[in-house]
Formats: sequence, C-alpha cells, structure tokens
Amino acid sequence: MIIVMFGAPGVGKGTQAALLAERKGIHHLSTGEAFRSAIAAGTELGKTAQEFVQSGGLVPDEIVTGIVEEAMAKPEFSSGAILDGFPRTLGQAQALDLLLNAQGKAIAHIVNITVDNEEIVKRMLLRGRQDDNEDVIRHRLHVYNEQTAPLLEYYAGSGKMINIAGDADIETVYARIEESLR
Ligand code: AMP
Repeated sequence: MIIVMFGAPGVGKGTQAALLAERKGIHHLSTGEAFRSAIAAGTELGKTAQEFVQSGGLVPDEIVTGIVEEAMAKPEFSSGAILDGFPRTLGQAQALDLLLNAQGKAIAHIVNITVDNEEIVKRMLLRGRQDDNEDVIRHRLHVYNEQTAPLLEYYAGSGKMINIAGDADIETVYARIEESLR
C-alpha cells in the first residue's frame, strides 16, 4: 500500500509517518531525512542538497525523484511505502505517477494534515532543527503555498485525499488518521 503524507512543513507529518510505519509495518521514506543524513555524511548528494535545505528552498526535482526511484526499487519497498515529504511539486507528482505506473502500483491514500500557520511556526521553533529559525520557517511555508499546495488540486479528483485536522496531540491525530484509513 502506498500512502502519501501531505501537508505544510511542521504539521507533524513526519511524526505521523513514522508511527504509521512502525504500527502498520510499512516502510517509511522521508526525503528530508535522506537529505539530512547525506548532508551529515558529507556525500556528493549532501553537498548539492545543503544550500537548498538550509535556506528552506526545494532541492531540484531531478535530484529528489532520483532518490525516490532508487529507494523504491529496494526490496523493503516492494509491498508498499509511506512517502513523507514527497511529492512536493507538480513535476515530482507526475514522476511518482510514472514510477508507480511502471511498477503496476498506485497511491492508495493521500493523508493531508492541516494546522493553522501561526501554530506551525510555534511548533517548528520548539523543534529546534537547524533549518528551523523563524525566517527559514516562513520561507518554507511560502514555498509550500507556492509549489506544494497546488498538488491538492492535482489530486483533488483522485478520490484518495483524506483531510486530517492536525491540531491535537500526537496520539489523537494518529487515531484520526487510523480511523480514516479503515
Ligand atoms: P522535511 O524534513 O520534509 O521538512 O524536508 C527538509 C528539507 O529537505 C526541505 O525544506 C527541502 O529543502 C528538502 N526536501 C525534502 N523533501 C523534498 C522534496 N520532495 N522536494 C524538494 N526538496 C525537498
């Protein structure tokens, strides 16, 4: 089963993706985590991704889709995947459709978590990640609105969108997601 975790940065999709992965036994792929570990390891990918991640911009589509294609070809993803932070642009969504089509697969659910913008800024400042200072956070929200939010329209007709209010504690939001996946 392919599940896409969708939402602005800071809505808790990474946390919920990790919980779903653990409790449902489906492998989890976070493109943000892939970039952070490549940056920490100082690989070529890390060097290329660094400036985009640190400024809160998006890593170019070809690089991101390359990583996802490579990861999804691994045996642990043969039975499904929880995609966290991907796709983030129309180009990525189209690349994902092509990739899944070629494998005879399809997205089962798109879990769209929503949280009020000011609450997001508060949460992200508490999280204290390196790319979480206020200017970068506001830039990331802007990038989300410009480049990622339009995907809601791309997927609107698919009948796969599940809207989840993310304005509660972790277990409450998890319960909402689990309920809606039944
Ligand atoms: P995240 O952990 O999902 O918040 O991602 C952290 C950062 O990694 C983002 O701000 C982007 O710079 C980069 N990133 C992660 N996923 C993508 C993606 N699908 N497309 C482009 N950039 C991405």
